[in-house]
Amino acid sequence: MARLTGKCALITGGARGLGLAHGKRLAEYGAKVMLTDLDAAAVTAAAAELKKAGLDVHALRQDVTDEAGWDATLQATVAALGGLNVLVNNAGIAFFGDVETCSYDNWRKTQAVNLDAVFLGTRAAVRHMKDHGGGSIINISSIEGIIGDPNLAAYNASKGGVRLLTKSAALHCARQHYGIRVNSVHPGYVLTDMVKGALATLPADAAAAAAEDLKTNKTPMGRFGTAHEIAELVAFLASDESSYSTGSEFVADGGYSAQ
Ligand code: NAD
Repeated sequence: MARLTGKCALITGGARGLGLAHGKRLAEYGAKVMLTDLDAAAVTAAAAELKKAGLDVHALRQDVTDEAGWDATLQATVAALGGLNVLVNNAGIAFFGDVETCSYDNWRKTQAVNLDAVFLGTRAAVRHMKDHGGGSIINISSIEGIIGDPNLAAYNASKGGVRLLTKSAALHCARQHYGIRVNSVHPGYVLTDMVKGALATLPADAAAAAAEDLKTNKTPMGRFGTAHEIAELVAFLASDESSYSTGSEFVADGGYSAQ
């Protein structure tokens, strides 16, 4: 039997990048998967591709910042998959900007998607899972939720918030004996559209220098990560193999944050 057979997983921001990789890997390990994303066409196409490969993957449009939408998304997921045991709060955005120049608009947008929505998703999942056999909530933070970067003020703040929100939620669920585990994942740099998009806002030579610096100088292993390497960690946390882990930080960063 595959390690995730019988699990039903909802993954936000699942149209591309890390979210899509998590969805594919969880489904390959036997889970039924609902991918949600702001981009309805992209998430529908992504799920259709995986379905063609024989995986049990569904798609829904969701704006994770919409509080009322969370109840509807959970209901539709439970109806489509037959339950919900795993939530991966993955949707995220990033803008470069130091604390002096970051616009308030970019600050607010970043907190709304990266932190407020993780709260909304975690709250909705806890309310459901506590009466339905428990589950595993996996919040995608970042190495930027552990160490500071002078040019990522809003992103640092949002991902640091996810790190401690995760611990608070984990402690609450453990003390209430809900059977719900809550953990955070802290990826290092993976060259997804989010990272490429943030780099593209810099002048071309500065972007190339920043990418090279991240890869060669800041990452001791000297390479970017792959989405697959992060998805394996998410699969472990989704499975019962991680049954004694809650409120913990799981880092996969080529040594970036060990320095
Ligand atoms: P990505 O930009 O490739 O994918 C993010 C997805 O989230 C997109 O499909 C986008 O449409 C969706 N999304 C954005 N706002 C949304 C909203 N309001 N509602 C629903 N969906 C929304 O990004 P990625 O690199 O795959 O990042 C995924 C997660 O991993 C993010 O939380 C990111 O902060 C985190 N992360 C990424 C890296 C990296 O190096 N790529 C490193 C550490 C952490």
